[in-house]
Amino acid sequence: MVSIARARENPQQPGLQPGPLSLPMNLTDLHGRVVSYLRLSVTDCCNLRCGYCMPPGGITRSEQSQLLSFEELERIASIAVSLGIEKIRITGGEPLIRRGVIPFLGRLSLLPGLNFLVLTTNGILLAELATDLKGAGVERLNVSLDSLKPETFSAITRGGELAAVLRGLDAAVKAGLPHPKLNMVVMKGVNDHEVVDFALLARERGCTVRFIEYMPAGRVEGWQSQFLPAEEILRRIADRFELRPVSDGPTAGPSRSFRFADAPGGIGIISAVSGHFCAGCNRIRVTAQGLARSCLFADDQLDLKPLLRGTSQEELAEALRRFVMAKPGAHRMTPHESHHTPFTMSGIGG
Ligand code: SAM
Ligand code: SF4
Repeated sequence: MVSIARARENPQQPGLQPGPLSLPMNLTDLHGRVVSYLRLSVTDCCNLRCGYCMPPGGITRSEQSQLLSFEELERIASIAVSLGIEKIRITGGEPLIRRGVIPFLGRLSLLPGLNFLVLTTNGILLAELATDLKGAGVERLNVSLDSLKPETFSAITRGGELAAVLRGLDAAVKAGLPHPKLNMVVMKGVNDHEVVDFALLARERGCTVRFIEYMPAGRVEGWQSQFLPAEEILRRIADRFELRPVSDGPTAGPSRSFRFADAPGGIGIISAVSGHFCAGCNRIRVTAQGLARSCLFADDQLDLKPLLRGTSQEELAEALRRFVMAKPGAHRMTPHESHHTPFTMSGIGG
């Protein structure tokens, strides 16, 4: 874990002023950013093996004792909400494969002060669980979908069935959930020729498609050849459709959003690599193993497991406040260089 003292000494982090510091009562960092969004992973396992996220053989399955129990995850959520977290996204791995996830979501949705409970899924199990998700109080889903062609979808996910995801999308709407936002990771030479098709889908379904820059999480050799910058993705869509910028709410993610001028639906562009949104970053992550991470591309992490298993509510809250205070000011990834330690995205939750 990075100490506040170390963070204050680091001249590369803008906005760090020497001088006496007191710990804020909420989750505010040394750059004045207020953290209100928690991405909470409930598993690092998955029923797919997307090439950009997992090694071909999958990951080594965590021992049950290494994973946080639902009670521990709830305790983290409850402390986080008491410190000002307004939005929790449940993620993974694939969150819908963890047994007991629906009652867990039901309990989370009752946390006083939690305004948004949302979940990201690959959609494979959505057709059978959509009604339960709605009943548990989940407000909205993000569904990852990288191709509308069955063969390409299967190649990207190493065996996934596109039809299952499409059935899941329909089931979500039928269950009374808003149409899921679709997340497409755009990769040059793999699925970038489908960008306009996805924009058409957003118009037809009146939903939002978010185009995500491919991030070299595992730092695969030659990742740049698959990287398509957000501006190029946007240009291709804007060449075809008239777009109007829309401003998202305060708990919104890092997406730049647009609506179609002449049709329902819209798009979002997430430029994690080519255009950093660090200055407005309001999020932290907690992995299924209980590691809090304040920046996707920084190594600083705080192991909450021993704290959960041996300290009071107050001590845990203070540890979180201290951890958030030292959140790095910015990451240093660019389309040309990635300075981070390689990681598997499924382990951290995207
Ligand atoms: N299994 C769920 C799913 O796929 O939606 C949730 C976990 S997944 C790790 C969360 C998000 O991270 C997905 O939208 C996925 O597309 C995104 N993601 C994973 N690896 C990525 C990468 N290398 N670059 C950009 N996005 C990535
Ligand atoms: Fe699984 Fe989601 Fe990673 Fe794909 S992106 S391998 S569905 S965790």
